[in-house]
Amino acid sequence: MKLCRFNDNRLGVVDGREVIDVTEALDVIPRSGYPLPAFDPLIANLEAVTQRIGALRGQATRLRLEDVRLLSPVANPGKVVAAPVNYRKHLEEVLANADLHHDVKINHIEKAGLFLKAPSSLVGAGQGIQLRKLDRRNDHEVELAVVIGRTADRVSRAQALKYVAGYCIGLDITIRGPEERSFRKSPNTYTVLGPWLTTADEVPDPGRLDLQISVNGETRQKSNTADLILGVAELIEFASSFYTLQPGDVILTGTPEGVSPIRPGDVILAEISDLGTMTVHVSAKDEALDQKVA
Ligand code: MN
Repeated sequence: MKLCRFNDNRLGVVDGREVIDVTEALDVIPRSGYPLPAFDPLIANLEAVTQRIGALRGQATRLRLEDVRLLSPVANPGKVVAAPVNYRKHLEEVLANADLHHDVKINHIEKAGLFLKAPSSLVGAGQGIQLRKLDRRNDHEVELAVVIGRTADRVSRAQALKYVAGYCIGLDITIRGPEERSFRKSPNTYTVLGPWLTTADEVPDPGRLDLQISVNGETRQKSNTADLILGVAELIEFASSFYTLQPGDVILTGTPEGVSPIRPGDVILAEISDLGTMTVHVSAKDEALDQKVA
């Protein structure tokens, strides 16, 4: 199933070029009072929501996909975990451009560990990227994004994929420079998740997915998740050995070679096999326009 959030926090099932409005299924999620839970309530209750969707979808309103504004399929992730250099050729590229990275230590991922992006950086494809620090280099990074489905604490790689709710295309937008990664990668809109959540049952092997990104029609990154240094299962094992992963936590698995600058006015097209395609518009902070997304 392909589940999207759209317009004013509505819930949809993507069916070809249409969105079936199943917002009413959100009623099965238990209401939470203060303090809010440390996980995403929709993802934590995905099974019950999916059952309700089954009962609703036959009579539900259908909209054209191009007429909706796509939000992040996960509204409230407790953590956005991200892998630093996790493709072999990207590691070579980073080392060749070491001046761009100043004193940031480039290490093999097993030594470097993972980093966190602020959940407040998260937007959906229809919301677009608003660049800041235009005097500095802002780069795109396309990545397979994993959405955790249930509480995972010290999970082995052999069991890890059972903890996955689904997958999305992730964009890890980055200001280059000397500061800590999490600082340079956490401005508002610098994490894009979309176009929707493809549930794990529709992705038999996350280690065999083509991913690519083009900017203004020009291909910039093109790879396959088979080239990941640590695959999805290994990343879940690694992350959950340090902290508990909660439903709705997002893991950005790292980007292949070909990162390059983006500027206001650019149009990004990102694609991952089995997951779909998303168009994301780039603007300068405070000049963003709401965009419809194909
Ligand atoms: Mn990245």
